[in-house]
Amino acid sequence: MVESQLRARGIHDQRVLDVMARVPRHEFVAEHYRDQAYEDHPLPIGESQTVSQPYIVALMLETLALKPRSKVLEIGTGSGYQTALLGELCAEVISVERHPTLARDAESLLTRLGYGNVKVFVADGSQGLAAFAPYDGIVVSAAAPGIPTPLFEQLREGGRMIIPVGPAEAQELQLVRAHGGKPLVERMEGCRFVPLIGGEKYASSG
Ligand code: SAM
Repeated sequence: MVESQLRARGIHDQRVLDVMARVPRHEFVAEHYRDQAYEDHPLPIGESQTVSQPYIVALMLETLALKPRSKVLEIGTGSGYQTALLGELCAEVISVERHPTLARDAESLLTRLGYGNVKVFVADGSQGLAAFAPYDGIVVSAAAPGIPTPLFEQLREGGRMIIPVGPAEAQELQLVRAHGGKPLVERMEGCRFVPLIGGEKYASSG
């Protein structure tokens, strides 16, 4: 996976490549998907949600440029796979999931695997989690029609947010940097995520 899917497509941050090699992705998918856990595609995780393709996860992590002392906010815990990677890359991970069953299962798996620097909350992540702000990095693992203002407001000056933005059918990854209190947006490659639900400007079901 690391050589053929990640390094071959240009992922070069050695810390990211190392954690992608180390974290056991098969632990985060159901028994009957385990033989596909390291393949080049997303997999179902229940509640009509998916764990993203390894390359997209690695690209988002590399783009965040996290430091060992960073505090990061993750929106969309899902299976907890990316949460574990974040837990290896930085000091503190605050992760928010709207589905209580996914949040509970991810939290107990992360505890079993020894990730003591990760906290999982059940909430509407489109509002962020102001109690722990500001964050050095924010990773949004669900598609939004635009950059949610509450999330940008919780990003530290100089911090980075990575988020899929666009209509439900197809989005692009955007890197948002907080610069002088304003968002500097860099458009990256195309992607397809499940929708971010909640808040005023998102769909109310799904
Ligand atoms: N990164 C996850 C992993 O490694 O398994 C996969 C995330 S999955 C693509 C997107 C997740 O975002 C789903 O679990 C979904 O329930 C969650 N989600 C969607 N809208 C949300 C919201 N407003 N707040 C929190 N979680 C949300």
